[in-house]
Amino acid sequence: MFFIDENYLHQLIDKKEKVDSKRVDDVLSKARELKGLELEEVAVLLNIDDSENLNKLFSTALFIKEEIYGNRLVLFAPLYISNYCSNNCLYCGFRADNKAIERRTLSLEEIKEETKAILEQGHKRILMLMGENHKQTGLDYLISAIDSVYSVKDSKGSSIRRINIEIAPLTDNEFKVLRDVKIGTYTVFQETYHYETYNQMHPSGKKSDYEWRLFTMDRALSNGMADVGIGALFGLYDYKFEVLALIQHSKYLDEKFGIGPHTISIPRIKPAINAPASQNIPHQVSDNDFKKLVAVIRCAVPYTGMILSTREPKELRSELFNYGISQISAGSKTNIGGYKQALGGFSEIGQFSLNDCRTSGEVIQDVIKQGYIPSFCTACYRLGRVGEDFMDQAKPGLIKIFCQPNALTTLKEYLIDYADEETKKLGDELIKKELETIPNEHIKNKTIEYLKKIEEGERDLYF
Ligand code: SF4
Repeated sequence: MFFIDENYLHQLIDKKEKVDSKRVDDVLSKARELKGLELEEVAVLLNIDDSENLNKLFSTALFIKEEIYGNRLVLFAPLYISNYCSNNCLYCGFRADNKAIERRTLSLEEIKEETKAILEQGHKRILMLMGENHKQTGLDYLISAIDSVYSVKDSKGSSIRRINIEIAPLTDNEFKVLRDVKIGTYTVFQETYHYETYNQMHPSGKKSDYEWRLFTMDRALSNGMADVGIGALFGLYDYKFEVLALIQHSKYLDEKFGIGPHTISIPRIKPAINAPASQNIPHQVSDNDFKKLVAVIRCAVPYTGMILSTREPKELRSELFNYGISQISAGSKTNIGGYKQALGGFSEIGQFSLNDCRTSGEVIQDVIKQGYIPSFCTACYRLGRVGEDFMDQAKPGLIKIFCQPNALTTLKEYLIDYADEETKKLGDELIKKELETIPNEHIKNKTIEYLKKIEEGERDLYF
């Protein structure tokens, strides 16, 4: 269907050949060249079902992630600004037919309060989201919301440095307006690429139009958006099909626009109130298959940022960092006004339930203990390393030259401004150790200089 070739993808899945270890080795050594994989090769990896080959897959995924991005994990916080929605997606708590939920659209003042609460956790990046309802929450509202977020300073004088957005598919003209607004990545999930399942899951509202949604990124990139993110909601249809379709979508965008997906998100369905498909998941993905699919996507699209949300529990999240995840949310609230609610707000029902309910501080400390650098970096977007420029650096693994020092300087800011004593101690030890591994002497010396300046009170120094 369209550029998603369902017949071909099903043929690849249905082959059911016995896993040939030699073939797996060949595919994995090709993956280590960081040039991505063909769909047929992706299918070989998806068919792995024995621990020996799985371990080889996992170590290859970690190798690739570290070759491209180093050992940093970028952190962000989601900010839901409205839960009005005119769609009826069967898996989502915001669906129009859910009368149990209190509907709210945050005022600009409330958005500022939420932003302040997020900033006080140490975040510098926000993913702004809202239900799909153009009448209540049009582009003008979104733009005012973005301006409001950027206008806020917290008690340390810090502000949000990058806003990514995940909102309904826009028209060509709307993208022409949005491209001039200060945002990072524009994201839309296809949810499921399987046409028939898509139609079942989206019975009404604008979202019931598969084609309109599938070609969102074509409209975005044709109209000057620089970075786009895609994703599938795992559990709606066969996970192997969704992975192959995500790769096919990535290749299509890369070939047509020279810009592959800046990020790929891999949420699994979680229970939501009055959302029948979330209570009775049609194609439940086991933890083991989930780990495998993360590693396969990392091998197939090495340059993409892979995002993991707090839908997944703490232990699994920690394990998945080793299989190719490069961005995580932390301290998240998915209900409207949720950050303030922690201080006594409203509407307790979120879009879906969370399984990692730790504070940002707890997540950050655990990330450090695992040997990864929690990063609040926003440098690429602010230096104009976006779109094709970003791809040119990310594809050959050059971007980590910047990621590592930027992770260290932003972590240092965090440690001074927001961390508890224990995290401070662990973080400073990590910074010391990591400094020794910066290969370029000039960048290493500059990083040391920046760290000193940050200790002396300067902020926002980056490469
Ligand atoms: S240097 Fe660029 S790619 Fe690396 S963490 Fe910073 S913004 Fe992201």
